Amino acid sequence: MPGIGPKRAMALEARGIATVGDLIFHLPVRYQDWRERSSAKDLRAGNIVVVEGELGKISERPMRGSRWRRLASGWLDVDGRKIRVVWFNLPAYMRGYLPGGERVLVRGRVAAYADGGIEIVQPELHRLSDGEPKGIRPVYRLPSIVGQRLFAGLIMRALAEAGDSIGGAMPDELRAEVPTIRDALTYLHDPPPDADFDALWNGESRGHRALAFDELFAFELALSIERMRSARRVGIALDGSQSLGAKMIEQLSFNLTGSQARAIEEIGADLARPNQMNRMLMGDVGSGKTLVAFWAMLRAIECGHQAAMMAPTELLAEQHWRGFARICGRLGVRHALLTGSVTGAARNQVLRGLASGEIGAVFGTHALIQERVRIRGLALGVIDEQHRFGVFDRAKMKALGPKANLLMMTATPIPRSLAMSLFANLDVSFLDEMPAGRTPIATEIYAEQDIERVHDSLRAEIGAGGRAYYVVPFIEGDEDEAKSVSATAARLKKGALRGARIGTMHGRMSAAEKDHAMREFRDGAIDVLVCTTVVEVGIDVPEATIIVIVAAERYGLAQLHQLRGRVGRGEKASRCCIVGSSDADDVALERLATMRECTTGAAVAEADLRLRGPGDLLGARQTGALPLKFVHLIRDHRTIERARKLADEWIARDPSLASRESEGARAAVRKMLALGFSLGDVG
Ligand code: ADP
Ligand code: MG
Repeated sequence: MPGIGPKRAMALEARGIATVGDLIFHLPVRYQDWRERSSAKDLRAGNIVVVEGELGKISERPMRGSRWRRLASGWLDVDGRKIRVVWFNLPAYMRGYLPGGERVLVRGRVAAYADGGIEIVQPELHRLSDGEPKGIRPVYRLPSIVGQRLFAGLIMRALAEAGDSIGGAMPDELRAEVPTIRDALTYLHDPPPDADFDALWNGESRGHRALAFDELFAFELALSIERMRSARRVGIALDGSQSLGAKMIEQLSFNLTGSQARAIEEIGADLARPNQMNRMLMGDVGSGKTLVAFWAMLRAIECGHQAAMMAPTELLAEQHWRGFARICGRLGVRHALLTGSVTGAARNQVLRGLASGEIGAVFGTHALIQERVRIRGLALGVIDEQHRFGVFDRAKMKALGPKANLLMMTATPIPRSLAMSLFANLDVSFLDEMPAGRTPIATEIYAEQDIERVHDSLRAEIGAGGRAYYVVPFIEGDEDEAKSVSATAARLKKGALRGARIGTMHGRMSAAEKDHAMREFRDGAIDVLVCTTVVEVGIDVPEATIIVIVAAERYGLAQLHQLRGRVGRGEKASRCCIVGSSDADDVALERLATMRECTTGAAVAEADLRLRGPGDLLGARQTGALPLKFVHLIRDHRTIERARKLADEWIARDPSLASRESEGARAAVRKMLALGFSLGDVG
């Protein structure tokens, strides 16, 4: 394309823009509003303005202390008021303005400048001799050697010349009022002057929504096709004698919850069939997923096969292994632990036991899917906290036993209907009931000024033999030192919690260090664990009775809920102290207050969808793992369900997407399947 030589082509390619298709799907990251002009008297420091005026001569001089920067400045006359305009290095498009005397529009942020004058630093200019500017101008994220204007020009040209060949996944007859992909792209790259600027800015315009809808339609079709494919895959049927699982349940000191019993029934029916099971077990933190997994593992073992369970951390793997030993130890099943810390002769023994088939149940971390591991007859793989694993990890787990059944578990709080759409390639079981006898967790909301009251509670709790988590947002060297793990621990040691045994844990520690800290906490060698959110994965320390979460407005409700779930696991009453920062805004604090009412994962998920906080599990952390470029799971959650319905209807009419109307869908689905899914993909 004109203006793009080898250098720029390379720079663009490095950003993933290599074809005309890449170009037109490279959406603006922001927009500039040029529609309203400010008058001279509106020019107050801090405002972003567009003003019309006459530009005087611009002079350039080298900047002191910089070899390559040149300071360019000049005066803009706006109705007689003089405004200084300044650039560090003049943009290329402005070279021709140097002589001065042009009528221009200037856009930028007004700043106060010495002796009462005002200036605009690094403004954008539009020459009125070129006619009126676009009312809403897109801004792209680009390599520095590709200018905004050049790029916008390329896009306009691409849309004009290639526009007819831009098709979407959705067949025309389903599209109804939804704009076509071509219209959506035109809207986004070249918004009409009457476009809703806020919607564009927030990524909620009709253009954004149309792209998301089309993408979701393709995604849902791909999930359906994936599901049909996997239903045909041969699996190991586990339909032999059935006694171990029943014995395990008999020996429990408690009764299964109704939903545990239902999940076990669903899984049992799946396992008995000669097709591979691909099932997701969803349940709130503490709902008792592990026990259901143990039952399924016993099923595999009593049928003469083996079962493996993979967890994201050593500590969790060890917790499962110990739990299995405690609950299933008397059933005569050989079990083993395989993590990075199991080395030397012990490791070789485990590897041999797995290869020969002597070990029935193995628990481990990523160590399970390393090259040297062979399992003789794997009939069931369980992946705990599945969202913490990538597509390739899951694929490797499958490779351990090509005909093995797969059970994935997650506590990600998603409303059921949304889960059904997002995991439509899988069967889903829900644990939506908490075991009886849990003492509910009291949730208390505090302002930062009242932190001493929180510390009083902490002291009381520790004095009574409890243990505490103290969650802070930063690690040493981050933006706010005072709220870092080490500074907080030091402060508590010297002050409020003098005499208490305080440990620390954060994400920049090695896995071994984290494990060590967690172990000390579990075994009672420390009373208080000052930590970042790394603590949130399914750790079960029943003695922990209080969790303090500082700067809580930084987290999504779902994440707060997961953190809260670290306590309330024993018989004693527990509390969760949520502390909002002094500079948090009212909306954020109101959001925190809802945590008091939302005590279940389902309620939290609903509230999260309504209130849309930062860092929500679903939005921020998980969209990146899906082959979805234009979808925001929270923003688009209603669309997701609609897309699911439409995809279902369409696939029922045209299961192989062979018709002419399915042409676009076929192409989009093929692309999607090639990228692979991740939220529970088992491709
Ligand atoms: P999660 O679903 O978060 O992984 P776990 O499986 O770790 O939850 O279970 C949390 C705790 O609840 C464990 O200590 C477990 O033994 C216990 N538990 C599981 N099922 C029941 C039940 N039906 N009644 C009482 N306690 C249970
Ligand atoms: Mg768990």
